[in-house]
Amino acid sequence: MFRSSTSLANNFCPLNVGVTRTFGVSMIKTESIQIQCPQCGETEFEQPDNVQDDDFVKCNHCKFEMMLADLKEVGIEQAKEVIIPEAKKEIENMLKKAFKGFK
Ligand SMILES: [Zn+2]
Repeated sequence: MFRSSTSLANNFCPLNVGVTRTFGVSMIKTESIQIQCPQCGETEFEQPDNVQDDDFVKCNHCKFEMMLADLKEVGIEQAKEVIIPEAKKEIENMLKKAFKGFK
């Protein structure tokens, strides 16, 4: 005679599905970007001490003068051109890695 001894002790373990996906976009380096002279591409500028946004800075190479505020804007545009392709590459790599495990 078979005795069914199926224990129905339902030990429910809460499933820990703690998936943390960290997209390290903040790891992208920005320090190495230097503002270039819009005229000649030089990155050295003459500037007064304690330069303010409405002070003029002068290119060391072609003597082109522009306001620091304008130069900063040029710098931001230049930085975007460098950073955006870098960021895209970085994100694509991360996505590739992230989707590898999802077969
Ligand atoms: Zn210049």
